[in-house]
Amino acid sequence: MSDTYAKLVGAPGPAQQLAKKLGLPRPARLRRTDPTSVDRPLTPGPVLVLSDDASTADADTVAEGLLAWDLDVHRDARLPDHARWGAVVLVLTELPHPAALSAPAMQLGSVLRSLAPGARVVSLSRRAPGPDATTNLAPAVAAARAGVDGFVRSVAKELRNGATANGVVLADDVDVRAPSVRGALRFFLSARSAFVDGQLLAVVSGAGSEPADWARPLTGVAAVVTGAARGIGAEVVRVLARDGAHVLGVDVPAAGESLTSVMNEVHGVALQLDITAEDAAARILDVARSRYGHLDVVVHNAGILRDKLLANMSAEKFDDLTAVNVTAPLRMNETFARPGVLGSASTAPRVISLASTSGIAGNRGQTNYANAKAGLIGMTRALAGSLTDAGGTVNAVAPGFIETEMTASVPPVPRQVMRWASSLQQGGRPVDVAEAIAFLASPQAGGIDGQVLRVCGQLQTGQ
Ligand code: NAD
Repeated sequence: MSDTYAKLVGAPGPAQQLAKKLGLPRPARLRRTDPTSVDRPLTPGPVLVLSDDASTADADTVAEGLLAWDLDVHRDARLPDHARWGAVVLVLTELPHPAALSAPAMQLGSVLRSLAPGARVVSLSRRAPGPDATTNLAPAVAAARAGVDGFVRSVAKELRNGATANGVVLADDVDVRAPSVRGALRFFLSARSAFVDGQLLAVVSGAGSEPADWARPLTGVAAVVTGAARGIGAEVVRVLARDGAHVLGVDVPAAGESLTSVMNEVHGVALQLDITAEDAAARILDVARSRYGHLDVVVHNAGILRDKLLANMSAEKFDDLTAVNVTAPLRMNETFARPGVLGSASTAPRVISLASTSGIAGNRGQTNYANAKAGLIGMTRALAGSLTDAGGTVNAVAPGFIETEMTASVPPVPRQVMRWASSLQQGGRPVDVAEAIAFLASPQAGGIDGQVLRVCGQLQTGQ
């Protein structure tokens, strides 16, 4: 479950030299969270805040907010000799026309060679009209906003040394000071977003709140994670617990031993349960309520693979996969997504599903899997807004290629191709997906609802 090639070329030596000569990918070591000192430092160097002329006032506000996080904030691209930028924040919230991007784009271009390894470029812009939306926006404004998406995704493809570019996209009535704008900005700046690249995340409302302690934003929260015995699920358990949550882990009885050992690590509760059982949600609720008094966060992580080309696919393989990967979360949400079931006086509901880039782009041999994962995205969008009254949200995370036992079953050549097909030229780790889930579970993500956040290193497939 590790990328031997990346290890070989990751350290100076003959393998690295040979890879360089042959023009083969040399994936960078990514900047990930240090479990002993989460978010310290937040960025690997000073932060440059740039904007177009019309967005200067918002840029001032954003810069003040960054100072409050003790960052070394600059508005001028001149740096002392040998210093390297830890991040560049592009404030483009009032961009009037695509041509107005030119000045901040040129300024960004001029500092790209002086970014620190693992640096971040983060844009703040406003939402362009979606495919189904009617809009009152002037065509030039709509073009400017849509243009930022293309720009950021392209910058992400040009960055090197584990640096990433992502964007926060604000709905029209959302202020740059809104908790989820600051929450998303902080997530993208931090090491928590190591494998999120080329993504634009929408903040749809001013809901949510900033945590009292950014290192433990889930204090007092009770969460359940399905498929918790190994892989991504086990890491979600660890990261939610690190961030302060009480965690209940669910997995099939056959995985009981490893489930117990994962849950013991975090002093959590292990529940052996097949999520396809009719009463799965009721049993989870019973255990959570008797142990913690309430249940707040549900992470639909359990999933299986039954890959076959459609011409060779049996109904059994198709149906087994559908039952676990999409029918079970749909059924459980009939309970969990009903108002009044999740949350408490001091904690807000969160439902987070594990989709997949296969559900966005399609994948050969995965018609059954892509149907289920795209189905979870449809479910997420349909449930958006359903928990708003209680401050709740329903979102999905779509991992790309993550190094787990599930993907270790992929044959070696396509496995290496999948790693190299991302802008970061490597597979992600379970912790990368877990960090995104923990962010969406947090109070500072309360204004993010009905969204799909890809954790894929900007895999060159799909949107
Ligand atoms: P994994 O196979 O390593 O772990 C999945 C866990 O779910 C296992 O512990 C398994 O026992 C459990 N599970 C399966 N069926 C269950 C059931 N009926 N009831 C309860 N538990 C059940 O998988 P992973 O790679 O950690 O993936 C976790 C999730 O992320 C899955 O939904 C997967 O589809 C999704 N995902 C993974 C990747 C990747 O690259 N690994 C990419 C995209 C999406």
